[in-house]
Amino acid sequence: MLQQVNGHGSGSAAHGGESLREDLQEFLGGEAPLQQLDDLTKVNPVTLETVLRCLQAQYMADTFYTNAGCTLVAMNPFKPVPQLYSPELMQEYHAASQPQTLKPHIFTVGEQTYRNVKSLMEPVNQSIVVSGESGAGKTWTSRCLMKFYAVVAASPTSWESHKVAQRIEQRILNSNPVMEAFGNACTLRNNNSSRFGKFIQLQLNGAQQMTGAAVQTYLLEKTRVACQAPSERNFHIFYQIYKGAHAEERVRWCLPEGATFSWLPHPERTLEEDCFEVTREAMLHLGIDAPTQNNIFQALAGLLHLGNTQFADSGNEAQPCPLVDDAQCSVGTSALLLGLPEDHLLETLRIRTIRAGRGRQVFRKPCSQAECDTRRDCLAKLVYARLFDWLVSVINSSICAAPDSWTTFIGLLDVYGFESFPNNSLEQLCINYANEKLQQHFVAHYLRAQQEEYAVEGLEWSFVSYQDNQPCLDLIEGSPVSICSLINEECRLNRPSSAAQLQTRIESALTGRPRLGRDRLSPEPNFIVLHYAGPVRYRTAGLVEKNKDPVPPELTRLLQQSQDPLLKVLFPADPEEKSQEEPSGQNRAPVLTVVSKFKASLEQLLQVLHGTTPHYIRCIKPNSQAQAQIFHREEVLSQLEACGLVETIHISAAGFPIRVSHRNFVERYELLRRLRPATTLRRHGPCPDGGRSERPPCTEPATLQGLLQEILHALPAPLHCGRTKVFMTNSTLELLERARAQVLEQCARHIQRGWRRHRCRTQARRRRAAVLIQAAVRSWLARKHVRRLHAAATVIKRAWREWRIRMAFLASEELDGVEEKHSSQAPCSPSSSPLPLAQTRLQGAITRLWPLGLALANAAVGVHGFQRKLVVFACLQLPVGSPRSCAIQTAQEQAGVLSIRALPQGSIRFHCRKSPLRYADTCPGPSPDSVTGFNQILLERHRPGHV
Ligand code: ADP
Ligand code: MG
Repeated sequence: MLQQVNGHGSGSAAHGGESLREDLQEFLGGEAPLQQLDDLTKVNPVTLETVLRCLQAQYMADTFYTNAGCTLVAMNPFKPVPQLYSPELMQEYHAASQPQTLKPHIFTVGEQTYRNVKSLMEPVNQSIVVSGESGAGKTWTSRCLMKFYAVVAASPTSWESHKVAQRIEQRILNSNPVMEAFGNACTLRNNNSSRFGKFIQLQLNGAQQMTGAAVQTYLLEKTRVACQAPSERNFHIFYQIYKGAHAEERVRWCLPEGATFSWLPHPERTLEEDCFEVTREAMLHLGIDAPTQNNIFQALAGLLHLGNTQFADSGNEAQPCPLVDDAQCSVGTSALLLGLPEDHLLETLRIRTIRAGRGRQVFRKPCSQAECDTRRDCLAKLVYARLFDWLVSVINSSICAAPDSWTTFIGLLDVYGFESFPNNSLEQLCINYANEKLQQHFVAHYLRAQQEEYAVEGLEWSFVSYQDNQPCLDLIEGSPVSICSLINEECRLNRPSSAAQLQTRIESALTGRPRLGRDRLSPEPNFIVLHYAGPVRYRTAGLVEKNKDPVPPELTRLLQQSQDPLLKVLFPADPEEKSQEEPSGQNRAPVLTVVSKFKASLEQLLQVLHGTTPHYIRCIKPNSQAQAQIFHREEVLSQLEACGLVETIHISAAGFPIRVSHRNFVERYELLRRLRPATTLRRHGPCPDGGRSERPPCTEPATLQGLLQEILHALPAPLHCGRTKVFMTNSTLELLERARAQVLEQCARHIQRGWRRHRCRTQARRRRAAVLIQAAVRSWLARKHVRRLHAAATVIKRAWREWRIRMAFLASEELDGVEEKHSSQAPCSPSSSPLPLAQTRLQGAITRLWPLGLALANAAVGVHGFQRKLVVFACLQLPVGSPRSCAIQTAQEQAGVLSIRALPQGSIRFHCRKSPLRYADTCPGPSPDSVTGFNQILLERHRPGHV
């Protein structure tokens, strides 16, 4: 979804994809940043990646609790956060009207369980399953919850009952250091690792006050007493007595300073859990007095000395194994401390007694060196396991209320998480089997919670199909054949069996089972179980022996003969036990194997859990170095897988992992209404109420519902609309996003198209306007020019008219003078008769028009040469064919005003000359002095300096 298809997109494409993802993230996740989300199921979409990112953001922001649906995820801060567990905060959660609205916290879970008990709604009893890997904080969480109940479940009114409750609470809290001292050890993963499972039942009376408690333990890792993995330690209590004993006690327990014990590795490491005084104090409060304590520690010191009892190889089967150098001393001390006769102890460790035959004859057989070691270890494990169980029973008797004094309970299950090591054996098989069972219980509960949410939203549950882990459980515990039944059968047959044989049996009997496999590359016989949290390879070697957990009857008999008061209590001489340990051939009691015992107690536990309302707290260890503020994604991821959170996510994905409120949905997908008109076929899922109601009841405004319905009609994919949310799968979201992108693209195209059209129109309009302006300017300029021309022409015309009038006047004056003189001088003869009338008119016309003609004839452009002459002739109305009667002289090649000389004395004679201005330059002729009359005027006008 929303990923680049080829993964080779350009930088900008990648950037675009990133921004789209962020955009979608914002839409799905709402406005809240990851570190402020109070529920992992609110990360949208619910994927491992988003869940991891959210957890990391929260851890870095010092937020250690968050919800994951019906589970509380608790991250180990690995640093003291006192304000997180203060009594004030406990009171705040207790007093809150709705604790769920406060920040996620274990106190929310505590308060919720407490209120559920108060409400008396079935099932009234509550249980809190605290799981997680070693060092994740399970014991811490359980402890905090106990403190919380001690505060809130105390009676505020009655002083007497308050005192009782306080005493009980104190005892319950005191049981922790004692159980941790005897049941916890420093491992590679956790300095204070609980090596047993525990279910604490906090008992409440009718007024919801704590009146007592009961502890049930599971599968103590007793092998640790005699065998510690490299870099790991024995149970804390051994180090406490070794380091914390007083001088006098050291003498009594034979623990001199600096003594070395093979079962006490790494005594130099000092842990805060090594505080002996705290354990003693707590034991005292639980009613274990000082002599009993002394007795216990003395027995434990005896076990330490027993560990130093080393055997050598006898080299002869008929001879018991000799002891190594200092071992004799160790055996003596051990026997002393355990109240046993030394020689009897030594004999029991080295010689096996076999009863056989009809007469139950006793045969004595010296053991091999390995058998001696096994018997020694077995003795230590037996004593320690019985001591632990006795302690639990003492604690129970101290804190347990009378059966009629309590009515309800809150159970706290501090259970070891799923385990997978390079070498896994029966312990891991049991632990993982228990985790499979609890996971099934959790899944059933989670699915129920989901179902409830869907029901509230009006959806049908049938959409979700989920394959649970039943096939895996069938493989481990099913009938008639399963891994457990095969291992138990091997024990019952009591025959020597090899690891390879067991592997072949498992493979052949369980062939075809989907959850079974084998590591063919491993040289050791093995089988693989595909657990919900991942595959685990189990070695078959030693499996049957561990399951049998054989306790040689001689060892029990020996311990029953102990003079030590504590061992007398731990190993009472019980005739029934005796008959069980030494079964006769015919009526053998069923062999109680480790697996069968574990299975029985697990079923009992699950029965208790089934009768309660479960709550889940998943503890997560952010890093294996126990460092604050360090978050290792890979480690957290494997824990999320192991504690079933990933499974939860998958279940979530099987349903509708994406839930969006109506408002958010409408805001984002409103534009999908454009996609297509409402189809006749309703493609989306049924409306709430199974489609019975026309419109789901909703508190939102009607318009929102209307819009929602419109969108749902137009959608290309089916999706399910609840009362307040829209539910969809990842693929549906993908489809919706694609459709949205399509619509957005369409919109973008529309916008582009509109913009381009707008731009073209604007450009065209501008062009038209420019043309208009240009035309206007040009016309204005033209008009202006014409006006100027016109004004100039008017001026010229006026000047011309003035000039013409003046000329006409001058000419007429001049002509008049000449005429008068001529007529007065000339004799009157017939040949010189007066001009006829026509000639007179011609003369008038010539007198009027000749300047125009001359001007035209002498214009710089237009007619040339002969044409010009013709024009002059025409304007003067001279006969073209009488060249002698008139001679025209023009300066045709030159522009300018010509002077005109007219001497109409009997004959018409015009003398055209160039302007007098240029006269002197161009042609020689009469000097300006000889010019008279009209010529004189012209000359005057063109003379330089004339104004
Ligand atoms: P588990 O029982 O799961 O093996 P623990 O409860 O013993 O783990 O926790 C391991 C260590 O982590 C504790 O000893 C403590 O130092 C630290 N721790 C766990 N939870 C918290 C917490 N809420 N605040 C501070 N430290 C914690
Ligand atoms: Mg623990």
